[in-house]
Amino acid sequence: MTMTFDHDLKASVRTIPDYPKPGIMFRDITTLLADARAFRRAVDELVHPWAGNKIDKVAGMEARGFILGGAVAHQLSAGFVPIRKKGKLPHTTVRIAYSLEYGIDEMEMHVDAVAPGERVILVDDLIATGGTAEGAVKLLRQIGANVMAACFIIDLPELGGAAKLRAMDVPVRTLMTFE
Ligand code: AMP
Repeated sequence: MTMTFDHDLKASVRTIPDYPKPGIMFRDITTLLADARAFRRAVDELVHPWAGNKIDKVAGMEARGFILGGAVAHQLSAGFVPIRKKGKLPHTTVRIAYSLEYGIDEMEMHVDAVAPGERVILVDDLIATGGTAEGAVKLLRQIGANVMAACFIIDLPELGGAAKLRAMDVPVRTLMTFE
């Protein structure tokens, strides 16, 4: 049987109800990553708009953004920049507080990870409220990066994260949505 690939790709995401707490539908991409065809397709789709464009760096958010961002950076012959929870990076960092569903946390990036004017795309598995990605964009801009776009496998549009990034003049690309 032939299925369209979008169906395949969406079907490769596993949904765990009530994780990590009641009421949350957790969209688990480990099943997509473990499926060789789905993983390749997702990375190809994230890379596609940038083929032939110069991208200097791909920035990925801890931890699933590392897996996807590393693969995307390799395909684009770009460097990779990790954005991490506070206290994990050894060199001088820039740090920002960002909002989570309940409360705030802080993320960091090495101060010399991106040179002023470099063209950067941001990659993560999923955008929900956009608090994480908004913090990452602010950090990147703080050290002079030219944030070309933010790319995610999954968008939860009802939570407004993609709209929040677009309001910051960051183009957003996502491969599928869950209501
Ligand atoms: P946010 O800052 O609200 O956009 O949340 C985005 C981050 O939280 C991403 O790194 C996701 O991996 C994770 N996340 C938020 N909601 C979900 C969900 N329903 N399923 C899986 N991951 C989620």
